Amino acid sequence: MKQIRKYLTELSNAHGISGYEGGARDIISGYLEKLTDRVEIDVLGNVVGIKEGDGLKVMIAAHMDEIGFMVKHIDDSGFIRFTPIGGWFSQVVLSQRVILHTGKGMVYGVVGSKPPHVMKEDEKGKAIKIEDMFIDVGAKNKEDAKSLGIEPGTPVTLDREVVDLANNRVTGKAFDDRAGVAMMLRALEMMETDATVYAVGTVQEEVGLKGARTSAFGLNPDVAIVAEVGIPADHPGMEKKYSDTKLGEGPMITVIDAGGRGLITPRPVLEWLRKTAEENGIKYQLEVAEGGTTDATVIHLTRSGIPVGVVGVPTRYIHTPVEVLSLEDLLNGSKLIAKAVESADKYFGRKE
Ligand SMILES: [Zn+2]
Repeated sequence: MKQIRKYLTELSNAHGISGYEGGARDIISGYLEKLTDRVEIDVLGNVVGIKEGDGLKVMIAAHMDEIGFMVKHIDDSGFIRFTPIGGWFSQVVLSQRVILHTGKGMVYGVVGSKPPHVMKEDEKGKAIKIEDMFIDVGAKNKEDAKSLGIEPGTPVTLDREVVDLANNRVTGKAFDDRAGVAMMLRALEMMETDATVYAVGTVQEEVGLKGARTSAFGLNPDVAIVAEVGIPADHPGMEKKYSDTKLGEGPMITVIDAGGRGLITPRPVLEWLRKTAEENGIKYQLEVAEGGTTDATVIHLTRSGIPVGVVGVPTRYIHTPVEVLSLEDLLNGSKLIAKAVESADKYFGRKE
């Protein structure tokens, strides 16, 4: 548990919106250097740790990018307007403390808006739109803000570090999908296999599954696993009639996502992941999701088709600064991935 907590904490606390994953990638490639035989970074910025073997080629993918914002312009008074990068619910963004990653270093700011005291009655009941919010870095005017290194294109992330909750549960800002990366790294440590393993930190998942697409094409694996977060239905606002999935009940294996418009997991992959879990005493949950999708969708449709499945750690409140998961689920997800890589040849081995 200690090791995976360390991975998750370091990775979630790192910063990197889509297309600007450098902060997370540096940490990931550092670990991949130790856990694999060689590390490569491709044109889009995906990082690949390659474990040489003489068996099947198995790809494990987890995206490195987190949702965030980008500076659009600075007004004359020094307030900064920004655009969301990735899927944000506007009410989550309000009043957050943020970090602007400028060429001169990190600059702290807060997301401000009109105070409730001066709102008209009809404004009070309404959600404030992101386009009506702004970042206040303490600048006195436009020139002052510019002198801090802020300009159109400056990436912005949330300022929120991982802390422990009760029962080995933790909360942080970027579990989607640094939890997947942590799961992948821990799985690499656990596995004993003669497969060739490609452990990939992908880029730009949150803005269109981009890195996984080129990476899967280039690596051309025989089979792939995506390490992700899944949405449990175990808190107020989530109804049992939709799903019975819970935190602490083990990693989720996706059956379909986006109502089948995303991934329909191939039956042999489902059998492989389920049997591997059952044979190794790892509890798991099946997920039928109506919204959202993952890198697996594009990996599946690469070249003439690649068998792929998703192992998702149940994570509450995703796409907020207070995502919550159970470290036990995360560790069990690693075990499942490690064991699945070990047994991949049995299910997908090339017939002589
Ligand atoms: Zn994700």
